[in-house]
Amino acid sequence: MTRDPRYDVLFEPVAIGPVTARNRFYQVPHCNGMGHTMPNSVAGMRAMKAEGGWAVVATEECDIHASTDVMPYREARLWDQGDQDRLALMTERVHEYGALAAVELVHSGHNVSNRYSRLPVMGVSDIGVNSFDPVQACAMTRRDIADVRRWHRQAAIRARDAGFDIVYVYAGHDLSLPMHFISRRHNRRTDEYGGSLENRVRLTRELLEDTKEAVGDRCGVAIRFAVDEMLGDEGIASGAEGREVVEMLAELPDLWDVNVSDWANDSVTARFGEEGDQESYVAFVKQVTSKPVVGVGRFTSADAMVSQIKRGILDMIGAARPSIADPFLPRKIEEGRIEDIRECIGCNICVSGDWTQSPIRCTQNPTMGEEWRRGWHPEIIEQRGESKKVLVVGAGPAGLEAAMSLGQRGYEVALADSGDGGGRAALESGLPGLSSYKRVSDYRLGQIAKLTNVSFFPGSEMDRETVLEFGADQVLIATGSSWRADGLGRATHAPIPGIADHAQCFTPDDIMAGQLPSADAVLVYDDDHYYMGGVIAQLLADSGKAVTLVTPGPEVSCWTQNTMEQHRIEKALLDRGVTLIAKHTLSGVASDSVSFACNTTDRALSIEAPGLVMVTLRAPMSSLYFSLAGEAQEQIDELPFGLLRIGDCMAPNTIAAAVYDGHRAAREMDNWPDPDSVPFKREQSVIDRL
Ligand code: ADP
Ligand code: SF4
Repeated sequence: MTRDPRYDVLFEPVAIGPVTARNRFYQVPHCNGMGHTMPNSVAGMRAMKAEGGWAVVATEECDIHASTDVMPYREARLWDQGDQDRLALMTERVHEYGALAAVELVHSGHNVSNRYSRLPVMGVSDIGVNSFDPVQACAMTRRDIADVRRWHRQAAIRARDAGFDIVYVYAGHDLSLPMHFISRRHNRRTDEYGGSLENRVRLTRELLEDTKEAVGDRCGVAIRFAVDEMLGDEGIASGAEGREVVEMLAELPDLWDVNVSDWANDSVTARFGEEGDQESYVAFVKQVTSKPVVGVGRFTSADAMVSQIKRGILDMIGAARPSIADPFLPRKIEEGRIEDIRECIGCNICVSGDWTQSPIRCTQNPTMGEEWRRGWHPEIIEQRGESKKVLVVGAGPAGLEAAMSLGQRGYEVALADSGDGGGRAALESGLPGLSSYKRVSDYRLGQIAKLTNVSFFPGSEMDRETVLEFGADQVLIATGSSWRADGLGRATHAPIPGIADHAQCFTPDDIMAGQLPSADAVLVYDDDHYYMGGVIAQLLADSGKAVTLVTPGPEVSCWTQNTMEQHRIEKALLDRGVTLIAKHTLSGVASDSVSFACNTTDRALSIEAPGLVMVTLRAPMSSLYFSLAGEAQEQIDELPFGLLRIGDCMAPNTIAAAVYDGHRAAREMDNWPDPDSVPFKREQSVIDRL
């Protein structure tokens, strides 16, 4: 296949100071929950982007000195020679595939608490740190500023010596000293670094000049700057000081990487923002500078990318999430394989890796973060082993991923589903704001349709007899889960008495099937804590119901803090008049009322609830599996085929986890792991035996 000439413009080289990017695809800095603690994993992950065709591959934020220690988060570090050596692994791997390596240097000011280094926190002014830690930052003196400039310069030189081609000054996301100095909200200084915008920009200018002087002959010097903080008059705004900063520094850096702040605005989920929705904020930048401009917008459409370039909005297409969901996105466009692109769904499960201090994962790309650890490649999979015929029952995320990957391995695969296929991804995509979830099933069904060795049988309910009759060598059960209606949840350890007597008790499955309580007032009980409770409350409110949401959690949809959506969900519900009650646990249900106990005082609360929706746990739909395996799996060895259960029918989890489980099962088929060994490589600490 050849590429569509309309996309030629995306493959033009771009000069960035003394270095040249081979095309316009730019993987902007992104966190990954691995950082300096897992250098092999990071190098493997970044190298995959380079192999996939990205012209520039950047690190996550990279701390320049021990006085800027972001623990518990795992970011890159350039504190000393050891850090330089570890990061050199990434640049070597990225260079192998002809990409440029970029590093985002940062001193985080009062955004850190220095939990590891235990050094005093340095800030623009005397100010509290950004977290709730009982820690304050000390206003930097001129001497402190000189120290930071020296450390930044030393880190730039280490970066160059580690092989980086582009060195950043980071002034984005309200996370770094340059931004804190620029910000009127944080900067209360009365010296030449405070007051006028010219003064507040001084540190950023100095860092850019220092970096250019130190490494500018060999490296491109980039700035990442948030042109709008979306805080109105309180913050930097693209129509005001955001523009003025770009005007002041216009020609100083070799590249402008521009975005909006904070991170939750920059990486807005698909539920709350569209592809390309930063355009109105960053569009002015190219009118102000002659230097190349890169920007982001969860771009997955080649047409949208071309439009950004042709209309003079951007010079390079920046991507974090689209490059995570598909590291081979540029190559696929180049090779005219648009339909093979695994499009990001904008769920921010990748972001949750950083917030939970765990290695990055992705709903669409199960190999993300596993490149080094398990040796998984997103586009290459080992050919099949001794088994030939595989039956996969259930075409939800787990079954679809397993069937597709087994097909790619060369097995003869039959995929049966009692419905149309897609499982929960298809069902949930009908809920408000979740339409992009359909990409999970659409992509896999599209790939399966191209595989002549995979047959898909929708509308095929399988039972013990039909599975036995089928005559497969291997059977994978991926029959999913269903929402419980009995009240058993995380906070309640037994079914709640009286639920069966409630006149209108529904579950999310009922709502997704189009059945809504007829009552005008509906209570949603959310002991799930991810998105489902909030989404259903929103749907009910939009259909005109008076909605109360009660949760034992500290706030509505509390786990969505990890996807940076919680504040938006809470606002969306409050804007719709939904009553929110947190920290209350379900204790009893009567025919049209529900009682709760306050988590703290145990005080009882009773609420009239003619309509009730229980969003608690899901029950694995494992009856087919156990009918074959036996209740204690005692029949497994006698079956004429291998039998596995995968995804939610084993242990309900996120869609990302189901996809991962399906992928793992496909990779491990005929490569059966030793159950007594660790099934992946680990990053090991060095022991100091003095
Ligand atoms: P997961 O997230 O683990 O993939 P889902 O609940 O999304 O799970 O998908 C499970 C799929 O399995 C659904 O499409 C469902 O219709 C299908 N399914 C469940 N039981 C059977 C069965 N006995 N025969 C065929 N398909 C089934
Ligand atoms: Fe996109 Fe979700 Fe993957 Fe992140 S986890 S890259 S948001 S699909």
